[in-house]
Amino acid sequence: MSDSDPAKGLTLLICGGGNGAHAFAGVAAHRGANVHVYTPFQNEVDQWNAGGLNMTCYYPDGTSTTAKPTLVTTDPKAAAAGVDIAIVCLPTFVHEQSLCDVGPYLPEGAMIGTIEGAWWGRPPIPGADWLKKVTFFGIRTLPWAARLKEYGKSVEILGTKTAVEVGSSPMSHAFAVSEMLEKVIGSLRFPPAANLLGLFALDAGQIIHPGVMYGRLSDWDGTPFDEAPLFYQGIDDRTAEVMQAMDAECIALKDEIKRLFPQLDLSDVIPTLQWLHDAYGDQIQDRSSFKSSFNTNTAYKGLKFPMKEAPDAPGKLVPLFDYRYLTADVPYGIVVIKGIAEVVGFPTPWLDKVIAWAQGHLGKEFIVGDKLTGKDLAETRAPQKFGIATLDEFMQSALA
Ligand code: NAD
Repeated sequence: MSDSDPAKGLTLLICGGGNGAHAFAGVAAHRGANVHVYTPFQNEVDQWNAGGLNMTCYYPDGTSTTAKPTLVTTDPKAAAAGVDIAIVCLPTFVHEQSLCDVGPYLPEGAMIGTIEGAWWGRPPIPGADWLKKVTFFGIRTLPWAARLKEYGKSVEILGTKTAVEVGSSPMSHAFAVSEMLEKVIGSLRFPPAANLLGLFALDAGQIIHPGVMYGRLSDWDGTPFDEAPLFYQGIDDRTAEVMQAMDAECIALKDEIKRLFPQLDLSDVIPTLQWLHDAYGDQIQDRSSFKSSFNTNTAYKGLKFPMKEAPDAPGKLVPLFDYRYLTADVPYGIVVIKGIAEVVGFPTPWLDKVIAWAQGHLGKEFIVGDKLTGKDLAETRAPQKFGIATLDEFMQSALA
């Protein structure tokens, strides 16, 4: 470590032991940060510690860096000691548990946030009073495509995004979070978003995966496929219509909230097609329609539906419904948007239809008719799960 190390003197806590955790640990340690890693699994801690702490990041241009995290532990109190910024980098369904494990031990004024997560403000977790003494933030997505290579030792950084937005609660702290992330992680920008509601919970892009699954598979008659159909590039007219109807509901909901709260900046909520054009630019060959923009996006080339071998037809395939396109993007995506629509009193018939279809394939019950009163609501991030039932309660939570 040299005096020019940009993250020298800062302590980053990573909650999680997977792909993203490996990347954060390697990148931040290389920039001179003290890196703590918290995972509740002793076997994971043992593998990180075996032979001494070291994390190597391999990059696509053939270069690599190796640096030493400071501490990897199952002890949340030790993990949180002296931390400036903590990042929960875990599958969404574990966020609350991990926040509650380490949160009470964070120093006053520390920052803690999640990668993805559909929050609309500080997580309204009952009893989590410690959240009031910290800045909560959200990072739109992981800065890299990352796959761990050797557990606890090395990770492949397959690609680095140029910029990933951050939102915070209080909203005004986003610049400070952005600055901190640029010091600790560097190599890309973390532009401040107006707020978490617009960045995360109302993100219309959350319709994409459930919309494609519904559009292609809701009429499927059960006949096994010879090969997996293309996912994005195979979007047909009907699927495009379903996705556009879902997208229109999200944007109309945003417009309604904006009408009710004109001071609230919801400019981060943009139509899915606009997002696609902004994100992929020249990689889209025909931008003339919603369908053609997905079909001709070369970044989506070859990506297929998740499938598994058909149980009664060896060599043939059936759809894999138990996959993050539905398991994550329904309970932590469109159900959250539906929940917000419900507190606003705004009808979303297409979101309702897709949620009802998806929950059947997941063996869950989130929605009953057009209300989020299903028995499995606790397994979602809908505001109703936290007892938020009115628009006033919701906005208090969003603006906190
Ligand atoms: P991952 O699947 O690698 O995480 C696995 C780790 O999660 C395990 O090693 C364990 O430490 C932890 N874990 C699993 N179940 C747990 C439980 N019940 N309790 C506590 N810990 C548990 O996750 P990832 O690939 O690092 O992704 C993290 C986040 O980043 C996700 O939101 C993902 O959608 C997002 N993301 C990842 C990538 C990527 O390239 N990996 C790209 C974009 C976004």
